[in-house]
Amino acid sequence: MTEEKEKQEYDYSFDYISRKLEGKKDSYGMLMKEIVRTGICTQCGTCAAVCSVLEWDHATSQPKLIGKCTGCGICYNQCPRTITDPIELMGEFKTGYSARTNIPEVIDGQDGGTVVSILSYLFDEHLIDAAIVTMKNPKKPWYPMAKIATSKEEIIKSAGSVYAHSQTVEALMEAIRKDFRSIAFVGTPCNINAVDKMMSSPAGMLKYFMRAHILKIGLFCMDSFSPETLYARFEKDGIDISKITKMDINKGKFHLYETLNSDPVKSYTIASLHRYKSSSCNFCTDLTAEKADISIGSVGSGPGKNTVFARTGLGTEIVEDAAKKGYINVDPFESINLNAVLFLAKLKKVTQYNIQKRKVFILKEGEETTKKGFESGPITDKAKSLIGTRKTLSLGKDLNEKTHILNLTLTNTVGFTLENITARIALVEDVFEKNPWVATLKELFPFEELEIGYPVENLEGTVLVEVSTEEYGKIFSRSIKFAPAEK
Ligand SMILES: Cc1cc2nc3c(=O)[nH]c(=O)nc-3n(C[C@H](O)[C@H](O)[C@H](O)COP(=O)(O)OP(=O)(O)OC[C@H]3O[C@@H](n4cnc5c(N)ncnc54)[C@H](O)[C@@H]3O)c2cc1C
Ligand code: SF4
Ligand code: SF4
Ligand code: SF4
Repeated sequence: MTEEKEKQEYDYSFDYISRKLEGKKDSYGMLMKEIVRTGICTQCGTCAAVCSVLEWDHATSQPKLIGKCTGCGICYNQCPRTITDPIELMGEFKTGYSARTNIPEVIDGQDGGTVVSILSYLFDEHLIDAAIVTMKNPKKPWYPMAKIATSKEEIIKSAGSVYAHSQTVEALMEAIRKDFRSIAFVGTPCNINAVDKMMSSPAGMLKYFMRAHILKIGLFCMDSFSPETLYARFEKDGIDISKITKMDINKGKFHLYETLNSDPVKSYTIASLHRYKSSSCNFCTDLTAEKADISIGSVGSGPGKNTVFARTGLGTEIVEDAAKKGYINVDPFESINLNAVLFLAKLKKVTQYNIQKRKVFILKEGEETTKKGFESGPITDKAKSLIGTRKTLSLGKDLNEKTHILNLTLTNTVGFTLENITARIALVEDVFEKNPWVATLKELFPFEELEIGYPVENLEGTVLVEVSTEEYGKIFSRSIKFAPAEK
């Protein structure tokens, strides 16, 4: 083969792969945001090697754009640190279905009612003698209550999602102690992971229980919330939680319904409820219950339907037989919008890059030796020469009018890790400073955020925010005004 022909064939195959990969949303911007800026890039240079408009910048040890990026996503998809393989994103599975209930008793399932329909099938066929489900606590509205259900009637009553941690494993252990032999266990991915660990890890307890067989039915899960704080917020907004008949998270919004099949009485964006999220969910990377026998969620199938992944032989057998015996209607794998599932799974997987959150200790000046490390005066020449024209930090503010807390967010945008940082915040009144607060931090990674809640007496005013580092002296100084949001 001539050199020219060899080159042409190479070009052809490379073009072919490029075209195949084109159209993905993953691009250079995401590579920089998720991998380079978070500091997890291994500097392997693969991204630069596969793209003609990317080169390796030896000065910054980063890929650098030298031409127009088309957003083809090839760099992102070759990087060893990105998670792009479907199996990595959602675990192994044998097949999938879009499913919905086919039994009249299931009228108010969360989505397609597939979970309770499969449980009903398992009871009717005498394949289980108990199921671990989560009900709404009758004494405390919308608090989850894990329960051992032993009849189809109880199963059907468990329909619907409660977006809070449920102690399902406690109920499972109780069922095993009560001598139930074949148990279906329904839980969020974290619940399933607990059971899977107990069943398969070397020190796992459930390995030694020969008496009980456990079928793991996992629910997809993106977040859960702390009921104490979330419901207090709902009540502050005038919602009588005892009148709510359904809660649902859909397309980034949390909806509250009083009547099924009508419009929600209130909807919130998930972002606005972030502070009520259970802290463990910020560290969770499993969307689809990867260790379950059957995983069931809503994303990827239309309204009133479920996306179902059968992961084990047993799981597949159960779904197929439940469909054959008329408990559920199933559409084949191709009917799932897999990209929607993969997109959400990826959002969850990338949270592992952000596990850099740390507590910041804030002291009132004068209480301790808090001035240590803080440089007053203008931004130093050393800092200017190092930073050049780059922005060192970006500052965000959000005034909580109810608590009188001014929430400030300082993000490291300088492109490298800042070490031994002191941030100083003071109220400025008639050119005098009042109520100075100091926060110290050992390091702030690129694009990591430092969050500070600064208390203010009045809802209108100006604060001075200054940041210095031990090495460069003062690197940031800005006065910002705050005022109540316009209604
Ligand atoms: C906290 C949470 C977050 C979720 N997030 C997503 C998401 O981001 N994307 C997505 O596609 N799907 C998510 N789901 C799954 C979705 O809400 C439905 O549970 C799933 O689609 C099954 O619907 P279904 O109609 O078959 O459920 P149903 O047939 O109504 O059955 C629901 C089953 O869920 C169980 N259950 C309810 N609350 C809990 C709980 N807190 N812990 C354990 N088990 C519970 C009940 O025991 C019942 O058996 C989430 C579920 C929960 C509980
Ligand atoms: S054009 Fe180059 S830099 Fe832009 S997304 Fe494609 S491979 Fe990445
Ligand atoms: S391919 Fe990924 S890990 Fe390798 S240099 Fe590029 S961004 Fe870094
Ligand atoms: S996000 Fe993760 S930790 Fe939180 S409830 Fe869901 S599975 Fe559990």
